[in-house]
Amino acid sequence: MPGINELKRTLSASLCEGLLSHAVLIEGEKGTGRKELAIWLAKAILCKGEERPCGNCSVCRKVQSGNHPDVEIYGESGGARSFHIESIREIKNTLWLAPNESEQKIYILLNVENMTAEAQNALLKSLEEPPSHARFILTCDNRRSLLDTIISRSTVYSLEPPTREECALALREKFSGFSEKEAEIFAIAYGGNLGAAISAAEEEKNEIVFLAAKTPDLLKKGESYSLAAGLSSAVKTRADLSEYLERLMNITGRCGIDRAAGKNTPVRVSPIEAVKTSEIIERGKLAVLQNCSLELIESWLVMELSGVFGGNL
Ligand SMILES: [Zn+2]
Repeated sequence: MPGINELKRTLSASLCEGLLSHAVLIEGEKGTGRKELAIWLAKAILCKGEERPCGNCSVCRKVQSGNHPDVEIYGESGGARSFHIESIREIKNTLWLAPNESEQKIYILLNVENMTAEAQNALLKSLEEPPSHARFILTCDNRRSLLDTIISRSTVYSLEPPTREECALALREKFSGFSEKEAEIFAIAYGGNLGAAISAAEEEKNEIVFLAAKTPDLLKKGESYSLAAGLSSAVKTRADLSEYLERLMNITGRCGIDRAAGKNTPVRVSPIEAVKTSEIIERGKLAVLQNCSLELIESWLVMELSGVFGGNL
C-alpha cells in the first residue's frame, strides 16, 4: 500500500490524463491523512494554476480554508451511524444545480463508515449517475464497513500510514512556517499520526510541542528556570499539561530508541534517560487526574526531570 505522497502522484497522473473517476474512495486508518488527501484532490481538480494544486491561487486557498462554494464537506464529525440520510437528501437537492464559480462541484464525504445503511443506499444512485459537473470524494477507515455497491461504484485508493519522514514532509507542505527540524519534531511528537499532528498545529499547540522537545536540552544546560517559565506560559489547563506530558513521552521515547540504534535524532536523549522520563511522566499523568494544583505538578515535574537530565538544583 502506498503512502500519501505516492497516492498524490497517482491521482495527479489520472487527473492529467482525464482518467480520474467521478467517485473516488480513499481508504485508510485514522491518522493516515485521508481528509488531507481528499482536500488536496479537491484542490487539484479545481485549481487554475500550472502545477495543480498550486496551493496559492484563490481557488486553492478557498478550498483549503473550507470557503469554496463548490466544495461541500459532509461527515466531518460524529461517530458510528451519525451520518444520516438527511445529509444525502441535502446533497441530492444541490447535485444537479450548476456549480457557482468553478466548472465542477465536489462533494467530500468523510468517514463514510459512519453512514447508516439507509444513507449508503440513498447515495448509490448519485454515485452511479452523477451530472457531469459533479464529483464525489469519499473517505473511510476500512472498505469492509461499506456496502459492496458503494465500493463497486467508486475507485478505491488505499493509504498506508505515513512514515515519520512522509509525515514531516506533509506538515511542511501544509504549514510553510515549519522548519525541517520543527516538522520532524512534530511528526515524532504525534507518533507519525499525520491527522493528529495537523490538528495540533491548527490548534496552535506548537508552544507545548516545542517546549517538550526543548526540555531535555534546557535541563542539561541547567536551565530548569527556563523550563518552569515555559511551562507556566504554555500550560493553562489540565488538558495542556496532559498534552505536554504525552508529547514529551513520544519525543523522549522515540529519540531514546533511535539513539540506541545509532541514528541521528532531533533531540538528544539516551535510552536510560528515556526510560526514567517515562516513569516520571506516568506519575505526572496520575497527578493531573487527581486534584493537585497545576503549579505544584509543574514544580515537581521540573525537579524530577532535572534529576534525570543532570540539571543542578
Ligand atoms: Zn491553485
